[in-house]
Amino acid sequence: MADKFMSMKNLTFTLHSRGGKYRSITPDYLNDHNPKTIDMVFKAAFDLGKKVLHPMFEEMDRNPPQLTDGSVRVHKGVRPMLETLGEDGWISALFPERWEGENMPSSLLLCINFIFATANYSASVYAGLTMGAANLILSFGSEHLQNTYLPPMLAGKWQGTMALTEPEAGTSLGDLATEAVPIEQGKSEDGQYKITGEKIFISAGDHDGVDNVVHLMLARIKGAPAGVKGISLFVVPKFRPDDKGNLVDNDVTVTQVFHKLGYRGAPITGLRLGEKENCIGYLVGEEHRGLLYMFQMMNNARLEVGMGATSIATAAYHSALTYCRARCQGRKITAPKDSMPVPIIGHADVRRMLLFQRAVAEGSLSLILQCGMYEDILAKDPSQKDCHLLLELLTPVAKTYPSEMGILSTSTAIQCFGGYGYCDDFPVEQHFRDMRIHTIHEGTTGIQGMDLLGRKLTMDAGRALGLLKQEMEAAIAAAQQHQELSEMALDLSRAMAMLEKTTLNLGDVAMEKGPDAYLADASLFLEMFGIMVIGWQWLTMADAALVALGKEGLKKKDALFYKGKVHVARYFFSYELPKMEGLATTLEKSGQMTLTVPEDCFTD
Ligand SMILES: Cc1cc2nc3c(=O)[nH]c(=O)nc-3n(C[C@H](O)[C@H](O)[C@H](O)COP(=O)(O)OP(=O)(O)OC[C@H]3O[C@@H](n4cnc5c(N)ncnc54)[C@H](O)[C@@H]3O)c2cc1C
Repeated sequence: MADKFMSMKNLTFTLHSRGGKYRSITPDYLNDHNPKTIDMVFKAAFDLGKKVLHPMFEEMDRNPPQLTDGSVRVHKGVRPMLETLGEDGWISALFPERWEGENMPSSLLLCINFIFATANYSASVYAGLTMGAANLILSFGSEHLQNTYLPPMLAGKWQGTMALTEPEAGTSLGDLATEAVPIEQGKSEDGQYKITGEKIFISAGDHDGVDNVVHLMLARIKGAPAGVKGISLFVVPKFRPDDKGNLVDNDVTVTQVFHKLGYRGAPITGLRLGEKENCIGYLVGEEHRGLLYMFQMMNNARLEVGMGATSIATAAYHSALTYCRARCQGRKITAPKDSMPVPIIGHADVRRMLLFQRAVAEGSLSLILQCGMYEDILAKDPSQKDCHLLLELLTPVAKTYPSEMGILSTSTAIQCFGGYGYCDDFPVEQHFRDMRIHTIHEGTTGIQGMDLLGRKLTMDAGRALGLLKQEMEAAIAAAQQHQELSEMALDLSRAMAMLEKTTLNLGDVAMEKGPDAYLADASLFLEMFGIMVIGWQWLTMADAALVALGKEGLKKKDALFYKGKVHVARYFFSYELPKMEGLATTLEKSGQMTLTVPEDCFTD
C-alpha cells in the first residue's frame, strides 16, 4: 500500500492560487479562514484519512459488502469511522451553528473531501452521501423533519442516501414510477404518503455501519402529471419513529447488493418499497417540485463526483511516482552497456506519463476549486449573479473532465508499473477500477455534454460563455507579465477563438438541421471545452508559481515545487491543448453522421 496518497503542499497552493475578477472583488470568500487555520483543518483531515480511512483501502475492496438475512454487512471499520466523522464535526461542518456546524465554505469542504477520498474513495462516500441528504432536508424540509432526522444523521449514526434511479428510469428520471399515495388526505404533520415501488443502484442504501438509513427519494404522487413535473421528494427511512419515538420497521426491503467493478467498499443496493403496504414517506417541501429540489443540490453533487475522480487520479499518481523513483530498469540510450540500470523516472517516456497524470489530476483539482470559489462568493454575496452563471457553465466540465481523463490517467499509472501495475500487488489496479464509475453516476458524460451545449451555453442569451472569456482573458493578461508564459498565453487565446468558431458553426447546424443535429456530437464538444478550461487553470497556476518563485528566501524544496508546476503547464500546452484542433475538425466535418446511420446497419 502506498503511504503517500496526496501532497498537502499542492492542495494549499491550488486553493490559494485562485485568480480572476470575482476573487479580486471578494477576496475574503473563505470567510474568517486564513492560511494558518486552513492548514490546521487540513492537517486534522489528513491525520484522520491516514489513520482511519487509508488502512481499510484494500480490505474494503477485497471484502465487498454482503447481503445477509435481509441486511447489508460492510467492513467493520465503517461504523467507528462514521462515529468519529460525526463526533468530530466533519459531517456537520457545512451546516449552520444551530446544527453544531461551522458554516464551512464549499471550497474548504471540497478540499477535505479530496483528502478523505485520496485516502480511501469508497470509505469517503458514506459521510458525503449523508451530508448531501441532510442538506436537502435542511434546505427544503419542515422543522419537524429537520428536528427528527438531522441530529442522528450529522452524528454519523444514521446514513443518508439519494434514491432516484429505478429499473426503467435511469437517465430519464421523468419516467420514474415509484408511487406515493396520501394518507389521511396528506393532512398529517409532515404530509405522510404510502410509498410503493422499486429503486436500484442506491449507494449505501442499507448497511450495518449505522442504526438507520434515511432515503431522500423521488416518487410520483398518485394522479400527478407525467414527466419530470410530476415528481416529488420524500424522506423514506428504513426505520420510522412512531408516536412514542420508538423506531419501527418501515417496509423497505433490500432486494440485492450489486457486484461492482470498483468502488467496492461501499454497497449499491436494490430496494423494494411497500411490499407489505406499510412503507411511509414524508413529503419534503411542496408537491411536484422534487426534481427541482434535487437539481438545486445537483451542482454540488456533480462537483463532488469530479472531486472523487480527481482524488483517485491523485492517489494513483503518487503511487506511480514512488514506484518510478524506486524501480531500476534499462539505461539511457547513450550510456555504456555495463553501466548500472537507472530508476525508470530517468526515461523520457516515463516522465511523459508522470507529467500527463499530474496535468490531469492537478488541473482537475484547480478547476473544481475555481467552481468552489464561485459557490462561496455567491453564498457570501448573492448579488454576484455572474458567479452563478459561471458555476452553471463549468459544472458539467468539472464533473466530466476529471472523470473521463481520470480513466486515462489511472490507466497511465498502471503503465508506469509495467506488469506489476496489472496485478494486485500495488494499489493502482484498484484506483483504475474505482475510477470507472465517475463518468456514469450523477449524469453520464453524454448527458453532461447535452447539458453544456443545449442548456448552459444558451442560457441568458449565451452570457455565461462571455463571462468565462473575461475570466480567461484576465488569466492571459496576468500570464503575459512573465516572458516564460507569453507563448502559452497566446496559445490559450487561440484556443478560445477556436472554441468560439466551433460554437458558432454548431449554432448554424442548429438553425439548418434542428436540435438533434446540434446535440449529436455534444460529448465531443464537452471534451474540447474541457481541454480549453483546464488550459486556463494551468496558465493560472503557472502564473502563481512564477510569482511565488520571485519571492526571496525560498527553500530549495519549495522552489522545486513551483518550477515543477511551470513544467507541467508547459507539458499541458505542448501535449494536451493541441488535441482541441482534432476535436474542432471532427465537430466541423462529422456532418453529424451518427444521426443518419440506420439502426439496422448495426449487424451482428
Ligand atoms: C456505482 C453506482 C452508484 C450509483 N449510485 C446511485 C445513487 O446513490 N442513487 C441513485 O439514484 N442512482 C445511483 N446510481 C445510478 C446512476 O445514476 C445511473 O446508473 C445513471 O443515471 C445512468 O442510468 P442507467 O444506468 O439507467 O443508464 P441508461 O439511462 O440506460 O443509459 C445508458 C447509456 O445510454 C445513454 N443515454 C441514455 N439516454 C440518453 C439520451 N436521451 N441521449 C443520449 N444518450 C442517452 C447514457 O448516456 C448511457 O451511456 C448509481 C449507479 C452506479 C453504477
